[in-house]
Amino acid sequence: MADLLRTWSVLPLVLASWRVQTQPMMLIHCPSLGDELIPPRRIHSLTNTDHGILMRINCYCGRRHVVRTGRRAQAL
Ligand SMILES: [Zn+2]
Repeated sequence: MADLLRTWSVLPLVLASWRVQTQPMMLIHCPSLGDELIPPRRIHSLTNTDHGILMRINCYCGRRHVVRTGRRAQAL
């Protein structure tokens, strides 16, 4: 019984923690809180415009901020 050799093993709690830490985040600037890391689930809407993508984000401060992003926004 004690001679079983395991080459690799991960506990379920360790794997769940790894998934939480690897989700993509965006850095925005909030006028109230300063720089904030925002997960994608806080995106309210995306709108394509001639001057970039307008991303409306439900911020942790309770307000909705608009962030301009994308290739066309960087050209301004
Ligand atoms: Zn905010």
